Amino acid sequence: MPGRNFLFIPGPTTVPQRIRNAMAIEQEDMRSTDFPKFTLSLFADLKKIFKTETGRVFIFPSSGTGAWEAAVTNTLSPGDKVLMSGFGHFSNLWIDLCQRHALDVQALEVEWGKGVPVEKYADILAADKKHEIKAVFATQNETATGVASDIAGVRKAMDACKHPALLFVDGVSSVASIDFRMDEWGVDLCVSGSQKGFMLPTGLGLVCASQKALAARKEARLYRTFFSFDDMITANDNGFFPYTPATILMRGLRESVNMLLEEGLENVFARHNRMANAVRAAVEAWGMKTIAREPRWYSDTVTAVATPEGFDGNEVVRHAYKYYNLALSVSLSKIAGKAFRIGHLGDLNEMMVLTPIAGAEMAMKDLGLPVKLGSGVAAAQEYLRSTAKPRF
Ligand SMILES: *Cc1c(COP(=O)(O)O)cnc(C)c1O
Repeated sequence: MPGRNFLFIPGPTTVPQRIRNAMAIEQEDMRSTDFPKFTLSLFADLKKIFKTETGRVFIFPSSGTGAWEAAVTNTLSPGDKVLMSGFGHFSNLWIDLCQRHALDVQALEVEWGKGVPVEKYADILAADKKHEIKAVFATQNETATGVASDIAGVRKAMDACKHPALLFVDGVSSVASIDFRMDEWGVDLCVSGSQKGFMLPTGLGLVCASQKALAARKEARLYRTFFSFDDMITANDNGFFPYTPATILMRGLRESVNMLLEEGLENVFARHNRMANAVRAAVEAWGMKTIAREPRWYSDTVTAVATPEGFDGNEVVRHAYKYYNLALSVSLSKIAGKAFRIGHLGDLNEMMVLTPIAGAEMAMKDLGLPVKLGSGVAAAQEYLRSTAKPRF
């Protein structure tokens, strides 16, 4: 079949040619004498992406879920009380992971379309005078609903009552796309993965840990072997790994970090915001709504578009794939069928972001949704024109 498949799901994302070229290489000896030269500078530059000077980055050959498991098992003990909130597929999976590790989970149920309930966190933490809560969890970007949360606000709530709990952040679909500040926001553990903002294939789980999180591992009694920070630190300090690292993916990560730093993180964030605004302009022009309830919850990496009553959002996804070779993303769990998602993160520019908008319009029109062809595209075009800047 001529032409290409257009992938607009919130991970895996399109892998740019530069990164594909960087990975089209021979296998290498991960114990060679010059391997540390590569890894140590990669670790150093990854710290810039997480915006940390004092923290430490781990690279596991796993998906983002493995990074979650590493963050939890290295810093907590069975029975530890943790404060969490669930408002979508991924934040709920994180709750499940903590429950399965026998943590004492206080999980606040939040309406899907909203994010971390910062005010409720503040009340609960202030009432916890004995500091029984050992960790506070926040999903910065809930990929299932297209909802972003206020991590700086969570830190503020913790500081207001001088609460010493560790702050865990799921940054799988936000780091390298949406502003994230490890040190400034006092985040203790941030997890991410390779196949979203980093524009790589799936296969690397990234964890950034603060000094406080690293110290917590001395007391933490959950079991860990594959995900042991201790083993990683011993080997990583010399530029090596305790077991075979995913060297090809790490060479790709090197190129990804180069691209992000060349563009400049603030420019990367601004570009994602602009692409997201274009998609949101289209949704408004269709006369439809996002699952995200209010602008404060808007995600700059993924938009979940609510389909009108009587129309199945996942049918739109199936139709677009079958007829137009366009991969939009299905809605999951509680909102399954009630929406479809457009991923707009990673390697993305103006012409690219018009593609899922045009394709979604065609699929929706085919399926009888009350959408005027060209309306979303025109709104996005107007927005992109009015905010365009010369490239050189
Ligand atoms: C994708 C994602 C995950 C899961 O990561 P995997 O790489 O699929 O294991 C977790 N949290 C969020 C917010 C995600 O978007």
